[in-house]
Parts: sequence; C-alpha cells; structure tokens
Amino acid sequence: MVVLVPIKDLKPKKKIELKDLLDTMASILGKWGVDKPVVLKENEVVEREDVLEALRKLGARYVPVKREDEQDYFTPLDHLGFYDEIKPSPLRVFNSTLELLYKNWPTPLVRLNSLSTGKIRVWAKLEAYNPFSNSIKDRIGWYMVKRYIEEHGEIKKLYEATSTNTGMALAAMGAIMGFSSRLYLPASIQKASDILLKALGAEVVRKPKSLTIEFIDEVQADAERDGAVNLNQFENDANFEVHLRYTAKELDLQMQSAGIRAKAIIGGIGTSGHMSAITFYFKNKLRNTIKIYAVQPAPGETIPGIRRVETGMKWIHWTKPDRIVDVTRDEAIEGVLRVARRDGILIGLSSGAVASAFQKLAEEGVIDEGDYVVVFPDHGFKYVEQLQVFFEKKGV
Ligand code: PLP
Repeated sequence: MVVLVPIKDLKPKKKIELKDLLDTMASILGKWGVDKPVVLKENEVVEREDVLEALRKLGARYVPVKREDEQDYFTPLDHLGFYDEIKPSPLRVFNSTLELLYKNWPTPLVRLNSLSTGKIRVWAKLEAYNPFSNSIKDRIGWYMVKRYIEEHGEIKKLYEATSTNTGMALAAMGAIMGFSSRLYLPASIQKASDILLKALGAEVVRKPKSLTIEFIDEVQADAERDGAVNLNQFENDANFEVHLRYTAKELDLQMQSAGIRAKAIIGGIGTSGHMSAITFYFKNKLRNTIKIYAVQPAPGETIPGIRRVETGMKWIHWTKPDRIVDVTRDEAIEGVLRVARRDGILIGLSSGAVASAFQKLAEEGVIDEGDYVVVFPDHGFKYVEQLQVFFEKKGV
C-alpha cells in the first residue's frame, strides 16, 4: 500500500543537484503525478531519492511512500498538496513584510484591453505587485537568501551585480534580516536606481559597463576578498527553482480558475530564470498545445532587465522556448505607452518589450483567436528618465 508522508519528515541521504533532477521533474509534471513512490526500509529512503527531492523542489507537501515488497501505483500531484503553498490571506493581514511577499501570492492576472482584439484575449501577470522592488525579482531575492541561510547559516554582508530590481529585493531582505548589502550596477542603468537602493540602506557601486554579466567575476572576487556572500543570480539555481515552485504554478492555478487555456505565454529574458521555469512547467504539463515566446532586445539595443541570449544565460539552455522575438528600445517604450493609455497602468520597459513582441507576433499572423498570457516583470516608475528621453526625441 502506498501512503502519503509529509515531505518534511523524510530527508534524502545526499544532496541532488537541480540539473540532475530535471528528468524526474519533467516526468512528474508530464504525467501530473508520481508512479514510482519512494521506497523505505527501516525508515530510510532506499529508492527514488530523486522523486523525493523533485517533489520537494516542486513544492509538494506530501510524498508517496511504500515498503520494499509492495506494488507501485499512481498518485496524482493534486493529492500531494501540490498547490497548498499558494493560499493568499483573503483580507490581506500579514505578520511581517516578508509574509507580505510570499503569503500575498499569486500576483494578479488581469485581462488587458490594449492588447486584446475581437476574439483574442490577452492576460497580463503583473509582477509589480511584489512589495520590495515592485518587480518579479523579489521572488529570487527572497528565495536565494532563504536557501543560503538554510544551507550555510546567517549572512552578514552581501555583494551582488544587479540591474536594480534584484538589488532592491536583496537590500530589502538585508533590511529585514539585518545584513548589509553592496550592489554593483552597470553605467547604462538609470540614475534613479542609486537613490532607490541607497534609500533601502544599500551601498551602490557603478561599473563602467553596459551589462551586469560583464562584471560578475569582479563582484565575486570582491566578495571573496571581503568575506561577503555573493548569491550570483545568474548561476544560482534558486532563481529557476522559485519560479518553478511559485510563479509558474500560480499562473497555472489562475488560468485554471478563470478557465483560460492559453495558446502561448510571452515574457522577457535576463538571467532567463522566470521564462525558463515557465517553459519547463508548461511544456512538460501541456506539451505542444502551448507555445512559449521569449523576448530579447534587438541587436545593439539596451532594455533594462532583459538581454540577448548570446550574452550568456543558464536555464534557457535547459528548456527551449518556441521562438525568440527581438524588440528595440523605442518599440518597448511604445508598448509601455500603449498599455498606459488604454489600460491605465504604467509598466516597465521590459514589460513594454513583451507587449510590443505580442503585437509583432499578431501582425505576423502567428496569433489567432484564443487566450494569451504576457508576463510583465515590473512597474514604470523607475524608468522616467528613459521616458523623458523618448518624449524629447519625439518632440512631445
Ligand atoms: N525585466 C526586468 C525589469 C528585470 O529586472 C528582469 C531581471 O532582472 C527581467 C525582466 C528578466 O527576468 P529574468 O532574470 O527572470 O530572466
């Protein structure tokens, strides 16, 4: 007989890397359940530690367990408390600002007038509803810190390369948990970022480069020299993991509850964390009934938060989107203005790039009737400088 055991009661003997768990996770998501329970002998896991770890990383509350000589049988994910973590407080009362982050999920999914036409309905996931950086990067700031503390103990000093949002999230985590942070920004990023980060108590260092990834080695060397922690969002698997466990799952739940069968999900890529996790989740669950389009800046263009695949990113190579769409900065800003002037919400430039990519696909005839989801990573307030330059250029 297979029994369900709380996942926290079973510990694997060895740590299994996320990359080594991908096939097991893909199979669990593909079958939407587990057909090989964990095998126990004298309360030790003797078989399928990978299933235990894959379920833990996917955020299931229970794991199906059997004794050595018993038969396997299929346990659906819904029986394993798979969705239990995503239960917002209905009246929005929280015990701390940290809870305001993870107990307030899901972030909203809203139907947009600006991108919907006739029988095409476009739904935007608004990541600006995260409390610290008003961006999707709060999720990784929280999870990378949480994972680090669980595995290595407290953080006293933290150094990180950031294009602002991860920095704001980490500075906020430092404020809440009592560590100092030094954040390294590329010269290309808007001036307002220094002020926002300083206001959150962080030290800011500007590097004479246009992309964060051009100086991550220097940040790592500085951290080693000064005995600081460098979580390195570009390589840290907690980045992919938090989006798999929460962002993608939330979106799935929201779509189910609203009866949305999305034909495609469109989103931007920086570290590639959120779109890779969304691709992995939905491609394994729904196969080719769903398309994934990733958005990058056109050659020679800079759009804060996103960059071109060839500049190097980790998780996008684990799980391929169907297509990558190029967008210029001006097109991204036009996307921001289109949404602002039809839907009344001010989104960030990378969100504007996603809106503009959706329109390009629609103009090409790739988008036919049905539901579509766009992921909007942040709010527009950080980008007034770029908007001002655009208005001056256009003479408005
Ligand atoms: N958009 C904005 C505004 C961001 O700050 C980032 C990441 O820094 C992204 C998009 C890209 O997200 P990811 O790093 O998950 O690919």
